[in-house]
Amino acid sequence: MEPVIRINQLTKRYTYKILALKGISLEVEMGECVGFLGPNGAGKSTTIKILSGLIRPTSGEAYINGHDVTKNKKKALRSVGCVVETPDFYPYLTPEDTLRYLGKLRGVENLETRIDEVLETVKLGDWKDTRVGSFSKGMKQRLGIGQALLHDPDLIIFDEPTSGLDPIGMAEVRDLINKLKKEKTILLSSHMLPEVQQTADKVALINKGEIMAYDTLESLSRQYFTVKEVIIETLEPLTDSQMAKIEAYRVDNGDSCAEVQSVTKVSDAKYSLLLKGQSESCRADLLKWLVEESMPISSFNPKGLALESIYMEMIK
Ligand code: ADP
Ligand code: MG
Repeated sequence: MEPVIRINQLTKRYTYKILALKGISLEVEMGECVGFLGPNGAGKSTTIKILSGLIRPTSGEAYINGHDVTKNKKKALRSVGCVVETPDFYPYLTPEDTLRYLGKLRGVENLETRIDEVLETVKLGDWKDTRVGSFSKGMKQRLGIGQALLHDPDLIIFDEPTSGLDPIGMAEVRDLINKLKKEKTILLSSHMLPEVQQTADKVALINKGEIMAYDTLESLSRQYFTVKEVIIETLEPLTDSQMAKIEAYRVDNGDSCAEVQSVTKVSDAKYSLLLKGQSESCRADLLKWLVEESMPISSFNPKGLALESIYMEMIK
């Protein structure tokens, strides 16, 4: 079946010096929620602007449901809703007026019913008569999502949807995306790994206009997983010999091997262990061993996901 998004060797040159996309290719299948992860300037918004018909690529093609976005824009865009960073609305309009205005502009059918449904989905039903000017950023972002849903598209593209929101606003938008992903195909750009991890099933890592990796979060972690930091807290400070003993921890299970590479004191009764190992069970084994050795452990916290280090490594 034709993927919902198919990008083929897409390039975008803004100026002689700025080559924002260096021939990226990417496919998103129906029902997938794909995170488009990369630092500022990586080319995320450029890709999204091409997909939403706002700018033209220099070369290459982008298809939505099989329709070329440059050659067959109207058909291609019929099945896309786009949510941009900090959407702007007329401050004196209410959410209802705003959606009515945008819906008429786009020729949305059964508009009044859709407006009610959409306001319900984005939880602005109670605010439908309040002017948007008085809304928090989070509420405006929810209205931004609402406008993208008006024509009931199969594909929703979010460009940094939680940027500039407070933690509550972020959580609300994240919950909404998690709800939408049950019914829609989603492409979500972000420069923050945790945001992508909380929502996406697959991640496309983009840096300097190139896709560095594209895979499921699980597989990426497995592939690149080498060292994990574990923070332990103890009831009393560890003795030098206890620390040495932990540092010497090494288990060879034939096909896999787990080993503590270092133990560093973070504060009086808090230590950072760097554990080299291939799986979750390595961490479980270490915890069991610490308890068996009567180490006075009061907490055991694996920290920093492997992906975070790959991401940091890639964007250097
Ligand atoms: P991201 O969204 O990942 O932060 P962008 O797609 O916005 O990245 O930008 C990619 C590159 O293209 C950056 O180097 C940026 O400065 C440049 N760029 C973006 N828009 C324009 C423009 N309109 N004119 C010139 N350069 C641009
Ligand atoms: Mg951007």
